[in-house]
Amino acid sequence: MNTPVIVMLVLAILMQAGAAWAAFRELPSVGRYRYAWVSISAALMLMIERRAESLWHLLHGDQVSTPNEIVGVLISFLMLSGVLGLRRLFLHLHRQEAKLKQQANVDYLTHAYNRRHFTEQGHLNLARAHRYGTPLSLIMLDIDFFKRVNDTYGHDQGDQVLIKLCQLCKKELREVDILGRIGGEEFAVLLPETGLEQAHEVAERLRTVVAESELPLANDQTLRFTISLGVAKLNPNDTLDSLLITADRALYEAKQAGRNKVCLAA
Ligand code: GH3
Ligand code: MG
Ligand code: MG
Repeated sequence: MNTPVIVMLVLAILMQAGAAWAAFRELPSVGRYRYAWVSISAALMLMIERRAESLWHLLHGDQVSTPNEIVGVLISFLMLSGVLGLRRLFLHLHRQEAKLKQQANVDYLTHAYNRRHFTEQGHLNLARAHRYGTPLSLIMLDIDFFKRVNDTYGHDQGDQVLIKLCQLCKKELREVDILGRIGGEEFAVLLPETGLEQAHEVAERLRTVVAESELPLANDQTLRFTISLGVAKLNPNDTLDSLLITADRALYEAKQAGRNKVCLAA
């Protein structure tokens, strides 16, 4: 019996089965290419039979062509390595897609959601709240005297203030709350399942945390800044736009009342 050829054929069967198994396991992640991928996986699986057939002949004393079997082993090896390479490519593509999705939804500077994504999420959450009669509130916030920050410390330092503000907000908010950059230094927070009283507490907490924070400057000094906030709760006839306008009005009142304040919409 030709032991080296038997070993080679067993190896070929194992590699062929490995390639087919790796291909089938990848099926859930190939999305719209699944028909092409099913064809490839099925072909890889059927080729196991070819390798097994040679082995069967050899074990029953039939002649097999050794050069042919060597090419067969090589093909199985290349198929396995090809499928493993494609799996890596799919993984890379999935990561890229997730990254692009994330970049399309967030503001590049502060990593808060951009206006487009905030609006999209806002409409969804409002529809849900209206349908199920659950509470929802919105906070509008704006940095006080931000022009002065830019004029005194420069635009780059102003950018650092925006980044710091969002870091502080994210730390205070829940996972389900949606923080969006609505304008230059104006942000909105959507609070699902939250009534006016609770939203008021959240806004007050944000105001305090920001007022107590310090941003280190190059010359060993620190920069402090404050925000003003307007809070509104969802009423039965509200749209996202009307809710934003109501919260913005409350924010304007907070500015008028001297800044570093929280005002509730009437
Ligand atoms: P108020 O207390 O009334 O809000 O006064 P304010 O000075 O903050 O006034 P306003 O809200 O009108 O100021 C907006 C400023 O925000 C003007 C603009 O230069 C600045 N700004 C907008 N976007 C950016 C940004 O991305 N980076 C920096 N550094 N500044 C920005
Ligand atoms: Mg401002
Ligand atoms: Mg502003």
